[in-house]
Amino acid sequence: MKTRLWPLICHVLPLLHAINICDTTSRLFGVAKGLPLKKIKTDADFKTAVETFCTKGKTTADIIASVERALISLYGRRAGDTRDMLRYKRFWEKVTSSITTVRVRSLPPTSAAANYHSLRVYLQVQDWIDTTCDLQPEMWGWQLSSRRLDPCITDLPPAPELLLKMIWCNCKSDCRSKRCTCRKHGLECSLASGECKGIDCLNSPSSEPLADY
Ligand SMILES: [Zn+2]
Ligand SMILES: [Zn+2]
Repeated sequence: MKTRLWPLICHVLPLLHAINICDTTSRLFGVAKGLPLKKIKTDADFKTAVETFCTKGKTTADIIASVERALISLYGRRAGDTRDMLRYKRFWEKVTSSITTVRVRSLPPTSAAANYHSLRVYLQVQDWIDTTCDLQPEMWGWQLSSRRLDPCITDLPPAPELLLKMIWCNCKSDCRSKRCTCRKHGLECSLASGECKGIDCLNSPSSEPLADY
């Protein structure tokens, strides 16, 4: 591989693996396994962003700044697009063309979620390529809870306050199954939920996530 790929991309192979198909980061839904490899050969912006991820000593701000370009490239660039605009456009494309409910997970990640993803990717890449790497996971997309590291998903609510108040369930059970309206929409139960009030069910903010969900 080194003979065939060098010098173009050999040194960024760890990034190409970590950005989309690595068990210790997260997966970008809908981005094919081989796409980053194709993009690095054809897209100068993507290549520049990738180089940043493979360079020692970058700050969280450096990484967040470069992931914007990388993700817009992976999800299909149009002039003036931002990540959130891309997500919005993709949603409308799906609403107008799909005959079933649009699955939120099939959209590009929000900018907040993508930022945390990119921090984990940088941490993983540096851990692989730099034997002296001493980055603290808590600064790079992970949080310590109950003495284990969990990935930070986002620091924003899943939807605007007004929308969250419009979706609620009336489950008689513990909101474990996808028949729970809140769970089905990827939301945690809230005070608006008829029975559980977002407190005493398995989909409430305080409950542990189900292993199989
Ligand atoms: Zn419910
Ligand atoms: Zn509930």
